[in-house]
Amino acid sequence: MRLISALAVGAFTLPLTAFAADPHSYAQPDQVRVTHLDLDLKIDFPLKQLDGQATLKLDWKDAKAKSLVLDTRDLKIAKIEAIDTKGKASALTFALAPRDKELGSKLTINAPSHPAQVRIVYTTVPTASGLQWLTPEQTADKKLPFMFSQSESIHARSWVPLQDSPAIRFTYTAHVTAPKDVRVAMSAINDAKHALDGDFSFNQPHPIPSYLLAITAGDLAVKETGPRSAVYAEPSVVDKAAHEFEDTEKLIAATEKLYGPYAWDRYDLLVLPPSFPFGGMENPNMTFATPTVLVGDKSLVSLVSHELAHSWSGNLVTSAAWRDIWLNEGFTTYVQGRITEAVYGKALADEEALLSARALQKSIGAMPENAQKLAPEPHGIGADDSLSEVPYDKGSWFLRTLEQRYGRDVFDPYLKGYFNHFAFQSITTEQMLDYLKANLIDKYPGKVSWDEVNEWVYKPGIPKNAPLPDSPRFNSIDKQRDDFLAGKLDAAKLDAKGWNTQEWMYFLDRLPDAAPLDKIKQIDAAWHLTGTPNAEIGMRWYSHAIAAGNKDVWSAAAEHMTRIGRLYLTTPLYKAFVKTPEGLAYAEQVYAKAKAGYHPLTQAAVEDIFAKAKKAKAKK
Ligand SMILES: [Zn+2]
Repeated sequence: MRLISALAVGAFTLPLTAFAADPHSYAQPDQVRVTHLDLDLKIDFPLKQLDGQATLKLDWKDAKAKSLVLDTRDLKIAKIEAIDTKGKASALTFALAPRDKELGSKLTINAPSHPAQVRIVYTTVPTASGLQWLTPEQTADKKLPFMFSQSESIHARSWVPLQDSPAIRFTYTAHVTAPKDVRVAMSAINDAKHALDGDFSFNQPHPIPSYLLAITAGDLAVKETGPRSAVYAEPSVVDKAAHEFEDTEKLIAATEKLYGPYAWDRYDLLVLPPSFPFGGMENPNMTFATPTVLVGDKSLVSLVSHELAHSWSGNLVTSAAWRDIWLNEGFTTYVQGRITEAVYGKALADEEALLSARALQKSIGAMPENAQKLAPEPHGIGADDSLSEVPYDKGSWFLRTLEQRYGRDVFDPYLKGYFNHFAFQSITTEQMLDYLKANLIDKYPGKVSWDEVNEWVYKPGIPKNAPLPDSPRFNSIDKQRDDFLAGKLDAAKLDAKGWNTQEWMYFLDRLPDAAPLDKIKQIDAAWHLTGTPNAEIGMRWYSHAIAAGNKDVWSAAAEHMTRIGRLYLTTPLYKAFVKTPEGLAYAEQVYAKAKAGYHPLTQAAVEDIFAKAKKAKAKK
């Protein structure tokens, strides 16, 4: 997934009794494991619910086990049945525990006879945390309603009862009915030519963890972008999306050259309405992506590199618990850089690595010590909270360090071998380290010490000798920014005509947090950043302008916040506004209008920002 920095959905403290291999799941995989899921669902737009049944194939591990424990959140369960090997159904009793704020409701199904399968008949609620239901007005084309899921981290349980832990992998099939005019797609092989007959079937033959379970339905057109790739998007968006993503096959081929064959057959991309809370989500076979990367010049397609990279780092080899998420996101951010370099050149890859490293250097000191570690103590970290910049940017920095010390001749085959060795498994940090020690550190002595590895993985902060790429273009921007701030260079004389998105991001990222108002006004007079359609630039620009007290940008900032529900691009503006009482009042007005278009996760994050601001004010 990318990118969710500064996700403000509160830190949850888990009771000590909940601590297990995966503290974010009630499942007891040492007793019984789900190996396959058959879904049969009806998509009901008027009621904003999924209605149907989930049949779980079980592998009983413990002869003494008496029950199957599943994760659920806000599911209405009608009945549960055991299905024996001949297909005969018999009712099972069950208990649904009271709802835990973070984990949902533990579902305990009494099954002492160890049935081969268990079937749960259920309905979701309109506020299911893993689903968003959009009215036609909230879509680009405004014709049909739209729905999509976002299961990572622990939201699959809000639309399917299952063992919702990345440690447990299963295959799945699904039969989904929907209104006749919508297209349904899932994180499985999709048939681009499927008739709009309201009756869809899917098969995911590879074992996946629950957070990769995904579904969408809406007014979706399809356009091929290569021999094994297509773009799914609303009809008015699909051509633009196909153009932006026309390099998809090149990206797949480049990754295969580095790390071996793409294991999943097709790689399709779905462009969601702007309320999608993330940049992208690596749902197998069908990446879900934000429309905010459709800027017309392919400058933000590193998002595709990132989500595609997950087909190796993550979907193929993922972390066994959320605490180990850096094995997923750090490796992916590293691979993303290698794909970008192979297809778009080293200069751009270095710029992106520097942007992320500089941003991490700036933010890491303010984080709690535990959150600064690649492998934090799991106690007290919420599943969604574990997705800060640290696993992404510190994780990839660690791998770039290893690459630099060993050289690509050694490191590339090592990484390829690692993906092969752990393919279709979910592993812990310690399993990864055992493999690293045997196959790299001990095999090629004298390059990296075990103490250094421990410092990267288990200590807060960034090791002092962490290498940074050199970017002549960024160096020149640093110099120009300094001169401009010192009054030695007019804003109009900045050499910014040819700056790409990343170079603008870098210029803005390193302006002082409270830049003087006259400097902000000079930049805007020369370069007209207010009203930019590029949301990466807009997010940075408005944050600075609001902080500097430039009320001229408020209405354009409000438009940005209303148009875009992506957490990473919208929450910084709320954070900038709430610093003054007048800004807070204005942001609350904006939110009142924007809320209906936001995903539940974005709503929760914004409301948390307001609550914290008011609490801070009350303290003063
Ligand atoms: Zn990711």
